[in-house]
Amino acid sequence: MKKYILSIDAGTTSSRALVIDHQGVIVSKAQFEFTQFYPQPGWVEHDAIEIWETQKKAIVQALKEGGISPGDIAGIGITNQRETTVVWNRTTGLPVANAIVWQDRRTSERCDKLKADGVTDVFKKKTGLLLDAYFSGTKLEWILNDQNLRQQAENGELAFGTIDTWLIWNLSGGKDHVTDPSNASRTLLYNIHTLSWDAELMSILSIPKSLLPEVKDSSGNLARTNLDVFGAEVSISGIAGDQQAALFGQLCVEPGMVKNTYGTGCFVVMNTGNVAIDSKNGLLTTIGWKIGKEVSYALEGSIFVAGALIQWLRDELKIIDSAMEVEELASSVPDNGGVTIIPAFTGLGTPYWDQYARGAILGLTRGSGRGHIARAALEAIALRTMDVVSVMNSDSGIPVKELRVDGGASKNNLLLQIQANLLNTRIVRPKEVETTALGAAFLAGLGCGFWKNLDELSSVWSADKKFQPDNSTNIEPIKLNWTKGIKATAGWALP
Ligand code: ADP
Repeated sequence: MKKYILSIDAGTTSSRALVIDHQGVIVSKAQFEFTQFYPQPGWVEHDAIEIWETQKKAIVQALKEGGISPGDIAGIGITNQRETTVVWNRTTGLPVANAIVWQDRRTSERCDKLKADGVTDVFKKKTGLLLDAYFSGTKLEWILNDQNLRQQAENGELAFGTIDTWLIWNLSGGKDHVTDPSNASRTLLYNIHTLSWDAELMSILSIPKSLLPEVKDSSGNLARTNLDVFGAEVSISGIAGDQQAALFGQLCVEPGMVKNTYGTGCFVVMNTGNVAIDSKNGLLTTIGWKIGKEVSYALEGSIFVAGALIQWLRDELKIIDSAMEVEELASSVPDNGGVTIIPAFTGLGTPYWDQYARGAILGLTRGSGRGHIARAALEAIALRTMDVVSVMNSDSGIPVKELRVDGGASKNNLLLQIQANLLNTRIVRPKEVETTALGAAFLAGLGCGFWKNLDELSSVWSADKKFQPDNSTNIEPIKLNWTKGIKATAGWALP
């Protein structure tokens, strides 16, 4: 009896591998960082070979630490940094260029041009996305600007993939060229309604069909490892992009369930069931996962600055020595003393989408102190989340009953209590906060029969702490000052 699931968590800065048992317990893990390349301002690249090499090392080490052999693995789940674009030669298996990372802005002007051409609605209708350099489509088009590579692509000699696809290609010894709908839905090339690569979109971006991977489900027998590469032939039975994996790892499997990851920024994602909801408030419509015939769609909101605001208090204002201290400092005062922070360091995402908004500390008086600023900072993170959840409510027509949370800043109890009060909603933090890796493992475990069904999985997921709304926050003045602050800082840096 095979006893474990291997979860491959291919992140933006490191390659991780986690071995998970039938109770959902992480028995061993390993992690290796890889190089970030910044060849020009706004450009971010990775060496796909280094990603594969560090990923292999992480797998070997995690297995070794757990005293586990490849043959003990029942199935493999892969979750990955999304949108990052790799092109390689099908014969040699070698990348033709560095991978262009999701953060890379080099195709911003191209996206402006596409908008001017009037194709915004075509892309939004078919893909649920905005025309932005963030997504894979224009990155892939950029790589094919090289005439040589374009010719090779037209000849069918090249393959495109996001990081899931690249890793599976390598794990399968160059046999399987596949992805899943959650990753495909971030490319600007995949029609999320018909569940197929879209000829019109491929033609607008001049992408030959032969480059594209086969889109399989997110769970099931999707690919197989090669014996020589992995040491055993094992089913790769789960694939999902990182945010979708986290949604699954939080077992947000019913429509209306929402998770928020409080990291450097926040990613808020709502399961909307089998309907793709078109947002009127700057949320992205995306695919959560596809299992058999069932597609679960999702709405996604982006907050650029969350934990980064706490880092700023530590590194620039220097009012704390570590991120953890912010909770004690914020608890040293009964309220924010009238102070409001607008964390628009790099503009504002959902629902404002204002790249010219800038940060501010407002409402200062002679009595304002470090404690007030720390408290206003935690409130700012919770208020940005409130903004996003509130448009999710209105776009979906589904009231949010509970918010499941993870990420580095979700350790902060005061933050979560303020969040519960601002949303007037229960906040739940799970015992296992490795929700992304867990989500990939859950998809893989269901896909290979390691876990029978969602019912069995629900005994694997458990809450660590629940935060119920109480009256410890005087929310009305906080909300009022927030609204005023957002207005005051809108468009601040307009040329
Ligand atoms: P990422 O995956 O984006 O790197 P993590 O999930 O590792 O982020 O979370 C790190 C972020 O969490 C940092 O920005 C840090 O400032 C913030 N953070 C860590 N601990 C706390 C805390 N106790 N209270 C508030 N923020 C915290």
